[in-house]
Amino acid sequence: MPHGMIADGSGRLPALEEVCPACSGDGQISSRRVGNTIHSGGSCNDCYGRGTKATQEGQRLLAFIRRHGT
Ligand SMILES: [Zn+2]
Repeated sequence: MPHGMIADGSGRLPALEEVCPACSGDGQISSRRVGNTIHSGGSCNDCYGRGTKATQEGQRLLAFIRRHGT
C-alpha cells in the first residue's frame, strides 16, 4: 500500500512524488527469475525502499531545497 503521500497531485500542489512503478509502492521486491539469473528480493533499488519516487516536479523542489536550504 502506498503510504505517506503528502503531495500526490490531488491537492493544490503539483504531484511531487509518485508510487514507484518497480515495486508498486511496497518498497520491497520479491525474488524473481529473469532468464537464468535469480534476482533476490529485498529493498527496491528504484526507490530505495521508500515506495515512492520523486516526479520531475519533486526533483525540482529537491534541487531548490539543496540550493537554498541550510
Ligand atoms: Zn520501488
